[in-house]
Amino acid sequence: MFIGHYAPAFLGKRIAKTVPLWVLFAAVQLVDIAWGVFIATGIEHVRIIEGFTASNSLDLYDMPWTHSLVMALVWSLGAGWLWSLVARREKTLGGLIVGAAVFSHWLTDLIVHVPDLLLYPGSDIKFGFGLWNNFPVAMGLELALFLGAMAVYLTGTRAKGMAGRIWPLVATALMLGLFYLGMTTPPPEDLTLAGSSAVVMYLLICAIAAGFDLTRAAK
Ligand SMILES: [Zn+2]
Repeated sequence: MFIGHYAPAFLGKRIAKTVPLWVLFAAVQLVDIAWGVFIATGIEHVRIIEGFTASNSLDLYDMPWTHSLVMALVWSLGAGWLWSLVARREKTLGGLIVGAAVFSHWLTDLIVHVPDLLLYPGSDIKFGFGLWNNFPVAMGLELALFLGAMAVYLTGTRAKGMAGRIWPLVATALMLGLFYLGMTTPPPEDLTLAGSSAVVMYLLICAIAAGFDLTRAAK
């Protein structure tokens, strides 16, 4: 999943208003940011099999440290605990929401991935409902999750000025543009490059979220 991952971030912001949206955007993609680093450094592996699913050609056959259920829980607990340490206000609520945001990644991946999500590193038990094999439904779900959750976020915030009214449109255009590029650009020959470019893209998207933080305030 790609932009659908950001739905829990928008919803989390409605509940924990003191957590910046960019932190929640980083949280929902934390295990994919780690995945990008681990792919670039050879700790985890991916290969290209043309037509692997109807939606993309990535065979994600080795990602136990970022995408197994047990490790997703470890990342979630770690991130939630870290946020509760650095937050100035609403430490417990913020920590719970950041932790839940990190774990939401695994749950949303579960819907679209073919069974490549391990129970724990080294386990033979794998999960994945494989919605990527139904391209129109998978894409429709991504868009519905993203746009629906952003609407919930927007109704809970107000624009600080003109920029706050324009930014949701700019951000939506940028996100849909990145989503389109991600779906249509073939993966690079050198797959370690796929890892590092994924990290750059996730950080850019955090900057888009920071634009919301700067231009809109909670109601
Ligand atoms: Zn993922």
